[in-house]
Amino acid sequence: MVEFSELEINKARRLFLFLAQKMAGDRGLQIASAIISNGFLTDEQISEITGLSITSVRNILSILRNAGILHVIRQRDHSGWTLYYWGTDPLIIYRVFKDRIKQAIKHLKIYLEYSINESFYYCTECGVRVSKDVAELNNYTCPVCGGTLVQEEPATELIKFLEMLVEKYKKVSLLH
Ligand SMILES: [Zn+2]
Repeated sequence: MVEFSELEINKARRLFLFLAQKMAGDRGLQIASAIISNGFLTDEQISEITGLSITSVRNILSILRNAGILHVIRQRDHSGWTLYYWGTDPLIIYRVFKDRIKQAIKHLKIYLEYSINESFYYCTECGVRVSKDVAELNNYTCPVCGGTLVQEEPATELIKFLEMLVEKYKKVSLLH
């Protein structure tokens, strides 16, 4: 069992609200807030608290559950009826958040590689600018004047920015 400090629990709550809004918009945020303030709730209770229709509540609950940020607890009431209570906990929030960060880092790295590898070529004689494919196709000879094609400096500012983002995401993903 992982123990969370008060600070981490608060952070997890904010992440939960953030992820719920990302995944299900303002209604997702409303539902997440209801769960944060009240703990585990049934869909009907959520509908009462938020004023959203039961259909809408159920749709959003299933989106959030599929995304992995909601738990459901089944409980039988005295008449034998099964009630479903929806809630969350810091552990699953952090897990989902880390996965998303990992995805973001992966996409950034792909974009970074692309930015480095797919730079343009230019002719040292006439200055014409061609894509990597065209340069390759022409054996790095200018299709216009026959001069030499040279690889452009990759967009260093963009690359620095992307590298900075990757580092930042890596730090965030270490948070628990
Ligand atoms: Zn040329």
